[in-house]
Amino acid sequence: MAGLTEAQVQDRIREEAKKALASGEVSAVVGWTSTRFEDKTKPYFAETEAECDLLVWNKYCINGTGKFALDDRYPEKKIAIIARGCDSRALNRMLRDKQLKRENLYIIGVVCDGKENAVCEGCQHKNPLTYDVLIGEPVEEQMNAERFKEIEAFEKLTPDQRYEYWAKQYDKCIHCYACRNACPACNCVECYADQYRTGWQGKAADREQNQVYGLTRAFHVGDRCIECGECERVCPMNLPIMRQTKKMLKDINDLFGDYECGLPDDAMPVLGTYKLEDPDEFM
Ligand code: SF4
Ligand code: SF4
Repeated sequence: MAGLTEAQVQDRIREEAKKALASGEVSAVVGWTSTRFEDKTKPYFAETEAECDLLVWNKYCINGTGKFALDDRYPEKKIAIIARGCDSRALNRMLRDKQLKRENLYIIGVVCDGKENAVCEGCQHKNPLTYDVLIGEPVEEQMNAERFKEIEAFEKLTPDQRYEYWAKQYDKCIHCYACRNACPACNCVECYADQYRTGWQGKAADREQNQVYGLTRAFHVGDRCIECGECERVCPMNLPIMRQTKKMLKDINDLFGDYECGLPDDAMPVLGTYKLEDPDEFM
């Protein structure tokens, strides 16, 4: 952590959390607290000053905090979120998708030092991008030259090989929706997958239904994915599902130039935009 030790950051988080609650404008502060396992923390809602002393900051603060803002989507008071770069991108995502109102959020930004999480190795935004108060000295942003390396290798496979790969992966899926629940881009009040009476989507964990779910999920979030890796991290069957959204992001970058989601000036998602002059030779 640039400038501050881990313990100092934790102290500052607790201090800012207490200040936020003491203002009377904030109902809860979302961060992390310890568990009975030394190498695990869990998300935590601190609602009193004493509970703020249970907030922790260490290399095991892995869960995204941003999505928890949706637990208080229509709050009477503001909700405060401890936000690293990825969490701030999650909040920007949900603000852009009009699932949250900025005036209902108090964002305690923390410059991140990387966590015990594979996705952090390729992180391009360790500094929070949107915040009300910042803890830590901003570090220089580093672009990840290998952002799409895995996808480039995958693109060398034939269509049959790719189908076989994904069919095997989705045969393992147990249709638990954990990937959807953890994803900040999956933020509809009611998910299409829960509207079982429409007949769009069954609940069975079989090849056909799993593939329909996987493809639909990828297309719903592919142009809005903030690359946080939460979908993959929470999948109990270890499906490499971030590859699907990464492939879509790579295609968007190839077609339209540099594109990242969850930045403060996030462009309109490509698949949510339509212009009369768009080429339509596929129609
Ligand atoms: S990496 Fe996964 S969880 Fe994160 S925004 Fe993208 S699809 Fe959602
Ligand atoms: S988290 Fe994994 S097992 Fe659960 S629905 Fe998503 S892909 Fe399937």
